Amino acid sequence: MSWDFGFRRNLNDQEIEEFASLMVKLENVRSVESKPDERRRKLEPNGKFSCKSFHSFLISGGSDPIFPPAKFIWKVKVPTKVKILGWLVVLGKTNTCDVLQRRRPGSCFSPHWCILCKAQGESADHVFVHCEVANFLWKKLFWEARVDWTTPLERNDLLRENPIAFGKGKKARTLWGCGVLAVVWVIWMERNKRLFENYGGVEKEDLWERVKFWASLWVSISKEFKDYNLSSIILNWQAAVV
Ligand SMILES: [Zn+2]
Repeated sequence: MSWDFGFRRNLNDQEIEEFASLMVKLENVRSVESKPDERRRKLEPNGKFSCKSFHSFLISGGSDPIFPPAKFIWKVKVPTKVKILGWLVVLGKTNTCDVLQRRRPGSCFSPHWCILCKAQGESADHVFVHCEVANFLWKKLFWEARVDWTTPLERNDLLRENPIAFGKGKKARTLWGCGVLAVVWVIWMERNKRLFENYGGVEKEDLWERVKFWASLWVSISKEFKDYNLSSIILNWQAAVV
């Protein structure tokens, strides 16, 4: 059998050495013509992709270091679209101005403009953490959870479990998770509405009321809060987690 490797130029000494080493390694490899190459995924014994195994991988936190908030986000009892938004935020895939500027420079006319604070450049870390609007909402959430607050450097420091927020127990964990994702959800909805609907926006205090509403609504349909109605949860989070 002859092999045509399709070299278009002479190989240098190092490349010849590497090629010789490759050929030695391939010496005992026998291709099976009846079995074409295929992608195999490690998560399933049969190598096939399944949503169930990938979901389990995300829930377990995965083995990849870029996935630390996965265990938290995918377990929070919020609608799937909210989890997906949280996940996009973690990965930096939301279409903030800095991302648009890189992907489609012509579509982003104001890369240095954050429509929420009307000052700093809009990046995911800015809009979800450092923007004065976001900062206000996080401060309120941490205050409600009775946890000291200092602004973290990046968003992923917020999108994770907090073992002391709201105290101990399942109710505390449920409320914390819903609160975190409610902040992310309200910020993004407000930002999009101002950007795409020529909408003047509301005060920060009103946004906080929305965070309280969404977080309370989501926890109210969880089994941990089955003995509480929505209005009593909204009225007093601290009382609800006792
Ligand atoms: Zn801002």
